[in-house]
Amino acid sequence: MENKGILFVVSAPAGCGKDTILNEFFKRSKTAGYAVSATTRAPRSGEIDGVHYHFLTVDDFKAKIENGEVLEYTEYCGNFYGTLKKSVDDLLENGKDAVLKIEVEGAMNIRKKFSDACLVFILPPSLEILEERLRKRGTESEEKIIERTKQARTELEFAKNYDYLIVNDDLNEAVEDLLSVFRAEKLRKTRCAELLESIKGEKN
Ligand code: 5GP
Repeated sequence: MENKGILFVVSAPAGCGKDTILNEFFKRSKTAGYAVSATTRAPRSGEIDGVHYHFLTVDDFKAKIENGEVLEYTEYCGNFYGTLKKSVDDLLENGKDAVLKIEVEGAMNIRKKFSDACLVFILPPSLEILEERLRKRGTESEEKIIERTKQARTELEFAKNYDYLIVNDDLNEAVEDLLSVFRAEKLRKTRCAELLESIKGEKN
């Protein structure tokens, strides 16, 4: 018997390696699909409309909210970001697990709407290491690095509301951890109720 698709949320402060972990994870997972969000921010180099995000104008984004097409949304660094109902439904209806890569407030809103969603938070080994990684990347000013570390500290406050915490100390291990979380969640008793019934039914 096939299990239904599960709604997963993955959050992490900037610089924790969330994208790298998820890219590797998607290569290895047979069941997970990425639920493409909508945003009003401009595409970055290499980003493809419909793959990384649905890039919308503010008016189009607001129209989607009005039409009930957005499950949750937030304003982050001056841009709107939102989870599209269609992106999630298309995956779940095809028996896939839907993965939302969203920030902490969005995650909390998903939890309120979907009590059986599974929330995973990716942590840096320490804030000092996070700061050091951001500095090594050399892409941001010292002021921005301090701001991002402060932001990370705020976001870490939300981690206690998630179901699983994964520390990104070693990329391969973090990917393995995420795959394990998915596997364990699939076997959760409450998600397998029909399976149990069918086995009991066959025996009688
Ligand atoms: P970025 O601009 O770097 O792609 O994303 C900025 C932040 O917005 C990241 O933390 C990302 O996870 C979050 N984000 C992306 N899509 C959504 C969404 O649909 N909803 C919410 N709440 N956050 C999102």
